[in-house]
Amino acid sequence: MFQKLIDFVNQTRLDEKPSSPPICPYDRCQSFDIDSYKTRTTLLGGEQGIDNNINHTWKSCYCNKCGLSFVRETKYGNVWYTDEYNNVLAGIPNCFENYIYTHKGCDGNVNKNYTQLDGITNVMTLHSSVAEDGSLQDEYRTFYHCDKCTTKIEVNNHEYF
Ligand SMILES: [Zn+2]
Ligand SMILES: [Zn+2]
Repeated sequence: MFQKLIDFVNQTRLDEKPSSPPICPYDRCQSFDIDSYKTRTTLLGGEQGIDNNINHTWKSCYCNKCGLSFVRETKYGNVWYTDEYNNVLAGIPNCFENYIYTHKGCDGNVNKNYTQLDGITNVMTLHSSVAEDGSLQDEYRTFYHCDKCTTKIEVNNHEYF
């Protein structure tokens, strides 16, 4: 589902359930000695157990081994880890917010941007229009681009929904 993005960045899907205990996401640590002290969640309802929860949750964590803080995020069976600047430390988010990945090969920061249909002009708001046959047509395109080497990829506008 996110294969184009997964091929482009260092981060990869985690084989970890939301109900599993938090693991320190920093490469050289991987400790289970974690304190968590605050959880935020969206309130979409429809919760059917922690591993099927459609809400996006953010758990603030602190690693007692390496002394670093991080956020463990979950949504609909998926787990990923971020820092306070929205850098993805591990995993692949399945939510539409802006996250910063690292580019496979050059380690530059990878950001998402939206453009008009010309693929060049950036847009701040995302519009769709209704075609003659009643179908919705997006008026924007979604890209991920590397800040360092300027390589970019285009992805499906709706791959996170
Ligand atoms: Zn740690
Ligand atoms: Zn790059």
